[in-house]
Amino acid sequence: LGRHRDDRRPTGFDYNGVRFDQDNLNVFAGLCAVDTPDHVERMLKALRDRGQVCTRMGAYKPRTNPYAFQGHGKGCLPWVFELAGRYGMKVIAMEVTHDSHVDEIREALRRTGNPTGVMLQIGTRNTQNFELLRIVGRQREFPVLLKRGFGITLEESLNAAEYIASEGNRHIVFGLRGMKTNMGDPHRNFVDFAHVPAVKRLTRMPVCIDPSHSVGSREAAPDGLLDIFHVTAQGVIAGANMILVDFHPAPEKALVDGPQALRLEELPRFLEDVAIAREAY
Ligand code: PEP
Repeated sequence: LGRHRDDRRPTGFDYNGVRFDQDNLNVFAGLCAVDTPDHVERMLKALRDRGQVCTRMGAYKPRTNPYAFQGHGKGCLPWVFELAGRYGMKVIAMEVTHDSHVDEIREALRRTGNPTGVMLQIGTRNTQNFELLRIVGRQREFPVLLKRGFGITLEESLNAAEYIASEGNRHIVFGLRGMKTNMGDPHRNFVDFAHVPAVKRLTRMPVCIDPSHSVGSREAAPDGLLDIFHVTAQGVIAGANMILVDFHPAPEKALVDGPQALRLEELPRFLEDVAIAREAY
């Protein structure tokens, strides 16, 4: 990944017609958790209408509370993939927490005729699940979005990325999603987007920011501007290559993380803001 000086192989890559590298920017707006076909379709239609070809859709949800909704799992994959294909989505970021999920995704894609592509997301709770990292590293079919661990050093998270690469899969995007601190953060997590240029300097991986899980709320900051919009702009100006962001057609009905989901009506302004920040980069 560029951390060993004698290895200058590029780590940018193309997947299903979408380019991922340290120079470009892809937006993955979508549902934190897949719930109803109606919500998924409304989300995808809004993205298609704005020229977007990537999205996020969580089917397997690792929750802090064992009694909370855990995601629809493999049961929703066929209809999610079919809808994604119908609306021209090329890549869906989808978290996996177990090797069986990779097989289920592969099988559902095959059965539906590969209407879209999938980027396997490793969430912050699994950043150091080395067996899972090895498994996604051994398969070459899907690229991987590895999120940093929320309570470990950057160095340790970068080493986790090496676990994937060491098994052969170098198609990795490194995700910043905020850190846990005991400093009384105003946000759900301490926003870590100053690490965008640091990761780009230390490695050759494209870097993703997740403003939703970093900030944790769509409520306005005291100056009336949305923090999620602010930190997104900061991340883009810092050089982010991918944005993973929660939207929902009816956030009050969302089964996971509704309070941090932006409303569909906010999608145009969000994308315009991103374009302005990108120009400033
Ligand atoms: C997510 O993106 O759905 C998620 C659970 O993120 P994280 O692993 O960063 O908490």
